[in-house]
Amino acid sequence: MINRDTPLRFIKGVGEATANKLLRLGLTTAEDMAMLFPRRYEYRGEIVPLADAVGNEPCATVLTVCSAPTLRHGGKGISYVKVNACDESGTATLTFFNQPWMEKSLVSGRKFRVWGRVERYGYTFQITAPVLEPYSEDLPDVLPVYPLTKGLTQQLLRRLAQEVKPVIDEIENPLPEEIYEKHSVMGRKEAVCALHFPQSREQVEKARRALAFEELLLFQLSLRRVRGSLNRGVAIPMGYKDTGIGKFFKALPFSLTDAQERVIKEIFGDLCRDVPMCRMVQGDVGSGKTVIAAAAMLFAVKNSLQCAMMAPTEILANQHYTTLGNLFADFGVELALLTGSTSAKEKKRIKAGLADGSITAVVGTNAIIQKDVIYKNLGLVITDEQHRFGVLQRAALADKSKGTTPHSLVMSATPIPRSLSLILYGDMDVSVIDKLPPGRQVIETRLVGEDKRGAVYDFLSKQIEKGRQAYIICPLVEDSEGEADDKKSVESYKALFAKALPHVKALCLHGRMKGKEKDAVMQAFEQGEASVLISTTVVEVGVNVPNATVMLIENAECFGLSQLHQLRGRVGRGEHKSFCILLTEKASERLQVLCETTDGFRIAEADLAQRGPGDFFGARQSGESVFVHASNADIPLIEETRKLAEELEKQSLMPLENAIYGYMNALGSDNIFN
Ligand code: ADP
Ligand code: MG
Repeated sequence: MINRDTPLRFIKGVGEATANKLLRLGLTTAEDMAMLFPRRYEYRGEIVPLADAVGNEPCATVLTVCSAPTLRHGGKGISYVKVNACDESGTATLTFFNQPWMEKSLVSGRKFRVWGRVERYGYTFQITAPVLEPYSEDLPDVLPVYPLTKGLTQQLLRRLAQEVKPVIDEIENPLPEEIYEKHSVMGRKEAVCALHFPQSREQVEKARRALAFEELLLFQLSLRRVRGSLNRGVAIPMGYKDTGIGKFFKALPFSLTDAQERVIKEIFGDLCRDVPMCRMVQGDVGSGKTVIAAAAMLFAVKNSLQCAMMAPTEILANQHYTTLGNLFADFGVELALLTGSTSAKEKKRIKAGLADGSITAVVGTNAIIQKDVIYKNLGLVITDEQHRFGVLQRAALADKSKGTTPHSLVMSATPIPRSLSLILYGDMDVSVIDKLPPGRQVIETRLVGEDKRGAVYDFLSKQIEKGRQAYIICPLVEDSEGEADDKKSVESYKALFAKALPHVKALCLHGRMKGKEKDAVMQAFEQGEASVLISTTVVEVGVNVPNATVMLIENAECFGLSQLHQLRGRVGRGEHKSFCILLTEKASERLQVLCETTDGFRIAEADLAQRGPGDFFGARQSGESVFVHASNADIPLIEETRKLAEELEKQSLMPLENAIYGYMNALGSDNIFN
């Protein structure tokens, strides 16, 4: 009998090779499969007459074969079968590639349900590479489409979902029954079941809504729970005396902007109180947040307290380490770098130094909040570019300074629309850096179609000849098979690019690489060893290569506006005029706003309106988002759950403790709460 922990490996027909492929999707156990949600659905039960089916989206038609099929062989072993099939509204030519066996089943007079994109050429219709099912009354109306990786098929995942049905049947509601009843949302088991084995569009939407409701509620309850424990703390107040902080400002190679000065004053003001600071600094890319963070860190160190700065990626942690190292050079700060790829020996040294207080400042990834990292007197925690688990991580760090709560500063380059910010950071003070340092250039932004690819490459070559560098961003790491999408992947793009511009040296960077590899690539690019960096969005935040002047984004339609704005911020960091080119096959109104403005807040508002909160914090498919289910239509749901969370908190969160911890653990923050 299958249970939650049964390895997928033990399921009928899953061999070792398949199990390894499933692992690439993050699936090891039956429970993982039960909780893998389809990313979309094919509503094949919604039959459309051929004449009405023309368009970009695939449609379901019911067609009867009305000619004899022809099988042809092209060069290089390619074969194709063509046949005509019709309904009352017209006749279509269906083309199948490399499926010579189709010739046999396409018997004149046979009826099929046909799924594919219908194009019109004059009076005839064309469907290329359709999916055929012999027509019958009891074909399934809705087919789930799961995320895939090379070598996996939808059939396999649909079958696995069936196999783990007993596990789905065991799912219990995390929240008290009356909440589901009162708000008329279906229970978790029913919803998960509906998403794997859907009957209708309405049912899918209801199930999604139910899970979004649950998720939004649990998220907000968790925040409240964590805040509740945070607010109780007291902090060690700091003071200006003997800090010599003025010398630090004088030594800077530039003078601070008014905005920077104001924000620093606000922060120092907070630091001098015994109430733990809880402040977010919001400033667009390049607005100069690092120096603000550095000033706060130095202030803490000069007050004999330790400080920690946490970055979301190793690349960024490394960069901060270098920048801070330079800024602190003459100021007596013992600075250390602690990330996942720090050697065991070095880790040991740093942990000892943090415990005995000889290391006064540490920069790192979430390695710095692991259970076994002990601080002697942690007084200030800075989280950079990190809003995903900001609050939870703050709580984890708060635990690290026995008795007192460290002051906490969050640096965010993503301007967050008010509606969201209220939920996420309702308890925080916000400082906005509303002006960029002087002399910042406007990055020329163009939205171009595939037909301009040649011109884009010419332009790129010219910039490179001038000694400049460029980023090229692709949405995927590797080609995904089985999906009929044409999204570019870093892996295949590299080959394509080498053909188009063979004289240009390009490096690749993506999230599947090891920390060390990534750093080596980034460093090589920074030092100009290659002109082009082909990358996924891992370069999104904070990376600083002043010589890079071109940001070329492939399949720009795959990204959110805020994300594109962030990517654009990677260029225009030096003295040279810089450009952002958004390449997209589908002409997109949506992206136009990026050509019109560089105002991060305006872009963020537009982004929220377009995509909803679920996508706001990063690509959902890559698991970067806090939300799995919540999306566009859910702003009313946010409101509903916010009110409910407030009510429940008033009554007491105690009875919900299990639900909250279950939710937090599922977020992957177990290292924080265990
Ligand atoms: P952010 O982290 O906000 O994106 P950074 O802190 O990386 O921005 O700053 C971007 C660049 O601007 C850095 O090279 C930094 O040295 C420079 N910079 C910061 N403040 C000023 C200023 N007041 N005048 C001139 N340059 C500045
Ligand atoms: Mg920064």
